[in-house]
Amino acid sequence: MKFGGAALSTLELIKEAAIKIKKKLKSYDEIIIVASAMGSMTDDLLELAKKMNPNPPKREQDMLLTAGERISMSLLSIALDQLGINGVSLTGSQSGIITTDDHSNAYIIDVRPIRIPNLLKENGVVVVAGFQGVSEKKEITTLGRGGSDTTAIALGVALNAEKVEFYKDVEGFYTDDPKIDSLATLIEHLNYDEALELIKLSGRYVVHPRAIELAKKNGIPVHILPYQKESLAKKGKGSWIIDSAFRPPSRAVYEKEFAFS
Ligand code: ASP
Ligand code: MG
Repeated sequence: MKFGGAALSTLELIKEAAIKIKKKLKSYDEIIIVASAMGSMTDDLLELAKKMNPNPPKREQDMLLTAGERISMSLLSIALDQLGINGVSLTGSQSGIITTDDHSNAYIIDVRPIRIPNLLKENGVVVVAGFQGVSEKKEITTLGRGGSDTTAIALGVALNAEKVEFYKDVEGFYTDDPKIDSLATLIEHLNYDEALELIKLSGRYVVHPRAIELAKKNGIPVHILPYQKESLAKKGKGSWIIDSAFRPPSRAVYEKEFAFS
């Protein structure tokens, strides 16, 4: 389950996310949560850096920005604790997200989530900070804006998840912009290429295209859902990105293997 910045923008919404996770645990034994920074926190942190220095060193900027996801992941774990769930939070580095050393725009080379399987077995839930990783030189990196979607797919792939669910501020993929065109209809099923094409044509990053590209390479099913209460959502069904004809690769494929080709 991946919660975007909008879905975690207030303490109240973080509590609601924790309740959703608790409900989900009725039908799943093990759930990995990926958290994005609260609301506009990443922009706010970036602004702070730029006020200090119009050209902040990229290494330090990454250090600063990764704090955003640390705040949301730990608050979500704290909310889960109140519901009787021990969902340990982990940074990208602690989760084994290994990246290139391109600060502010790193690509995932490998995922070595050594601690996660045991934590899942013990507690059922692990909460991971999206958007961040660690280079082979042990430097903290970020994956570029919107990168927590990519974290969610990468972890899903590494841990053989049945699917990755995205809790977004939109219901899913639409034929047109639902905020502008009331006739826009929800697309309940699409394949990876259709999703990528729709993002390119519309410019609406329902899920970051890098994440969809990674999902496509590994054939992992993606389900986009609105985070709002059912009554606010139009249908609550969301969109599935899936390709039934797809034959999965024999091993996980990460970004380094195709991002630079
Ligand atoms: N918090 C980061 C950003 O705003 C990553 C993400 O939201 O996916 O870009
Ligand atoms: Mg964000």
